[in-house]
Amino acid sequence: MRETRQSEQAFEKAQQLMPGGVNSPVRAFKSVDVPPVFIQKGKGSHVYDIDGNEYIDYVLGWGPLILGHANDVVIHDIQSTASLGTSFGMPTLMENQLAELVIQRVPSVEMVRFVNSGTEATMSALRLARGFTGRDKIIKLEGSYHGHDDALLVKVGSGVATLGLPDSPGVPKSTTSNTLVAPYNDLEAIQELFRKFPGEIAAVIMEPVAGNMGVIPPLKGFLEGVRTLTEKDGALLIFDEVMSGFRVGYYSAQGHYNVMPDLTCLGKVIGGGVPVGAYGGRREIMENIAPAGSVYQAGTLSGNPIAMSAGIATLSQLTEKHYAHFEALGDELEKGILSLSALFDIPITINRAGSMIGLFFNEGPVTNYQQSKASDTAFFAEYYKEMINHGILLPPSQFEGIFLSTTHTLEDVERTLDAMEASFNALRNR
Ligand code: PMP
Repeated sequence: MRETRQSEQAFEKAQQLMPGGVNSPVRAFKSVDVPPVFIQKGKGSHVYDIDGNEYIDYVLGWGPLILGHANDVVIHDIQSTASLGTSFGMPTLMENQLAELVIQRVPSVEMVRFVNSGTEATMSALRLARGFTGRDKIIKLEGSYHGHDDALLVKVGSGVATLGLPDSPGVPKSTTSNTLVAPYNDLEAIQELFRKFPGEIAAVIMEPVAGNMGVIPPLKGFLEGVRTLTEKDGALLIFDEVMSGFRVGYYSAQGHYNVMPDLTCLGKVIGGGVPVGAYGGRREIMENIAPAGSVYQAGTLSGNPIAMSAGIATLSQLTEKHYAHFEALGDELEKGILSLSALFDIPITINRAGSMIGLFFNEGPVTNYQQSKASDTAFFAEYYKEMINHGILLPPSQFEGIFLSTTHTLEDVERTLDAMEASFNALRNR
């Protein structure tokens, strides 16, 4: 059994100091009923907690650490940048550099604005879409999470789904009255909303690969269909690639599926583990942002040098070869998991997109939130407890995907499959 005393004591104290003991809900490990692990350090695909346990990590800071923990170049560049000063609130050359990298690699982005989180990116992109079109309504998809902006906190996945919470108190009805919702992968439902509100919808905001109700890739023709519907009506298409950006493919999900949105939201990977977000898109739209235009959005720490240096170091180390590595490791994991599923007669569905992998304890297919919710979450919690005791750190929620990094190895995958076999054995023998 794993030693957990130090983490438990730290969590006791944290609960006196911070609501739920954490600064973001899912970290409290509530839905799996395990005390949260307090991390001491990470290197590559592994993290170490304050009790001295080592884990193979599939959380990767919830996505940013595509190069694994404490990548040498990222750490070096953060340190040398910090030694010159941590923030100026004035332009630096690094902002140009990261903007160029983002524009090169995210095909539909011609101009970009950096912010400090994914939430800020989606919130600002919505304001821009509304300002540009002069329309108020938006469509979001059920089970997606776009951060905790009021207008988007409707029928959300991620922590809200994990904790089984209703849509949040504190969000005025007037704020969400313009938010329309359709199921993921349901083109007809989206078409119906456009039929009902012609010329009134500013934008459809969607994750091109859903990652907050487990991982759900788009069905064939879905992204293309939404693109056509938005174009026909004069609404904008916003891809929230905060999670899928640089994870689903070298050119992000939009490059991978070859469907171009008008605006793209980014975060996570482009900050290499330092707080960052960005939104970008067609020049004609982006030039409506202040001071070029009149849609207001600002930030004291936006374009912060440390975040920019971590982002540059991360994006410039990623190569197309890494995506072949993700594919190969994903194949091995999938093959191994499916054979354990057959061996133990446990129904499992696996959804994959690049370095994002979703695992559901049901027969499948899982193509929308309703089907994702049909996963056996009680079994997931039991499985989770076993896996963490076997040294595998998974996101403590059925509704989050697992991530791969360039530092994950075939040996990590084999150890993970061994742990899974041992976990299923233990559960069977209970
Ligand atoms: N959009 C998506 C698709 C996300 O997955 C997340 C966070 N998981 C966000 C937006 C919000 O980003 P942040 O937590 O940086 O505000």
